[in-house]
Amino acid sequence: MNIGVLALQGDVREHLLSLENCGIKGRPVKTPADLYGLTGLIIPGGESTTVGKLLERSGLLVPLRRQAEAGMAIFGTCTGLILLAKNIEGYEEQPRLGLMDITVRRNAFGRQVESFETELPIPALGDPPLRAVFIRAPEVVRVGPGVEILASWGDRIVLVRQGRYLAAAFHPELTPDLRLHRYFLQECCGLAVGRTRPSSLSR
Ligand code: GLN
Repeated sequence: MNIGVLALQGDVREHLLSLENCGIKGRPVKTPADLYGLTGLIIPGGESTTVGKLLERSGLLVPLRRQAEAGMAIFGTCTGLILLAKNIEGYEEQPRLGLMDITVRRNAFGRQVESFETELPIPALGDPPLRAVFIRAPEVVRVGPGVEILASWGDRIVLVRQGRYLAAAFHPELTPDLRLHRYFLQECCGLAVGRTRPSSLSR
């Protein structure tokens, strides 16, 4: 099972640990050669302008996009969601993968509430709601016809799926709940994820 975590910036270790707790040994992806044979890739949070530039500089942007178009699944969290979007409000020139038919608004939750946690109901995951950590989070302001809205916080769209692409405005790797990582592995990567042990990541 070949699952990678883009390791240019952000909480790479936490995503690798979440994968490990799902019974999967993920591998960090830093160069185009690291993409070889990947079934799925996680793009962690960070700063999307920086990660976009690093994607270009490392030569990963084009091969990564090509591999996704050829069938690789992608799970973008926060900055990952921004980089997956076709349109980024106010940042039309920012380098991105542009694989999902969505428009995002960066830093959508305002400066005074830059970070917060909430219990987020996600019907596709069942009960209980998922503890969701938002850190200078984006929101999705438009979805195209092929895009499924999996969760909203109030009237803000924060979790979307388009086939094998999954994108969250929050950080599932920062809580011990593995359901969203498992959802990605099963539904987007087509992997049979067996019984998992509880995350060893304590907060
Ligand atoms: N605010 C960041 C951006 O616009 C995203 C923050 C995050 O990934 N936690 O890129």
